[in-house]
Amino acid sequence: MLALSPARLLAIWESGVRRHPIDRALLLFALAEPARDPDTLADAPLGVRNAAIMALREACFGSPLPSWADCPACGERMEFELASSMLPPRPETPVDEIRIGDLRLTLPTSRHLLLALDADDAEDAAQRLLHACLLDPADDPASMADLLDAAGEAIDAADPWADLSLALSCPACGAPVSASLDIAAYLWDELDRHTQALLDDVHTLAGAYGWSEGEILALSDTRRAAYLERVSP
Ligand SMILES: [Zn+2]
Repeated sequence: MLALSPARLLAIWESGVRRHPIDRALLLFALAEPARDPDTLADAPLGVRNAAIMALREACFGSPLPSWADCPACGERMEFELASSMLPPRPETPVDEIRIGDLRLTLPTSRHLLLALDADDAEDAAQRLLHACLLDPADDPASMADLLDAAGEAIDAADPWADLSLALSCPACGAPVSASLDIAAYLWDELDRHTQALLDDVHTLAGAYGWSEGEILALSDTRRAAYLERVSP
């Protein structure tokens, strides 16, 4: 199912494993859309980035995504299969700006997220993000905190894939549960698991046969599995 070759998978993992999650998401975005100018990726709306990474995930591992969420009321773990069709539809015509009262804001991007990195807490981060999105530098609202709810709703409406979440109902107690999906972190975890398994295979075969990493990565999955069976039946 994985569309990436073992050597390519290992190279992607190596270039992303020590990066911040926001940079990792940009790495996956670049992988998903190689024709897009790399210098523009950080300025794309988060919904555009997330949709590209979702398409990459489906190309690598198929659809749907095995997922889970814990009920905040009773603790029940809900496991479910998430398909992109269950997520809110993306607007056909992306907007350039949103308005909250007299304020004009641009849609949040990866660059805006980076500006909020050293925030003290989640609310401070949300306020910094909102401030970074103001289109007119002369705008300086007295209280960003009072704008957060309205801004969250306006961003959700304009770019519903910026912050993906799914409304569920707990089968045990009936409480409403909001399951959020960080598609970049989700795909990175999958790539990391595949890479760790691949590194285990290289370690085992290099020790048993003395082959180099390159020689082992060049084997087809079928041959690699056949040799592994002989080493550790
Ligand atoms: Zn529950």
